[in-house]
Amino acid sequence: MTIRGCDVYPGHPCPHSTGSGCDDYANRPHDPCVSFNCGWIVNDSPLPDWMKPSNAKVIVIFNKTVWNGLPVDVAVPVGRRIPGRALNWLKGFAQRHGRPLLFSEQVKENGIYTREQMFMAHGPAAFQQHTAQLLAQKKSLW
Ligand code: SF4
Repeated sequence: MTIRGCDVYPGHPCPHSTGSGCDDYANRPHDPCVSFNCGWIVNDSPLPDWMKPSNAKVIVIFNKTVWNGLPVDVAVPVGRRIPGRALNWLKGFAQRHGRPLLFSEQVKENGIYTREQMFMAHGPAAFQQHTAQLLAQKKSLW
């Protein structure tokens, strides 16, 4: 993400991060800060206790977009990849509730994180094709 013109990605934290909070919280940008709804703390979150981001190493954003009338959730890793247990839980949740899932892996080059994320789709074949088309056309997924 970009915060006031500064690229933020693993190894490059937001310049406003103190490590435990935000040094300009009252003036944080609307997008992505104010509009961000962490799936762990939203009301009635379906995430089990062990899916807390600091433990499961994944951040979930529910209802990030809509595809064919279905809510689409997004999951991004804390680190390079979403651990298998968490990803399996998310895929099962997606299937049980008919909610297509987009999830990502952070791209490394020569052992160093880049700004890039590789996104993958879980859900109906048509949703996967739709996602592949958007990615091939370098269009936003939401
Ligand atoms: S709330 Fe926004 S501006 Fe503040 S530290 Fe987090 S990402 Fe940076």
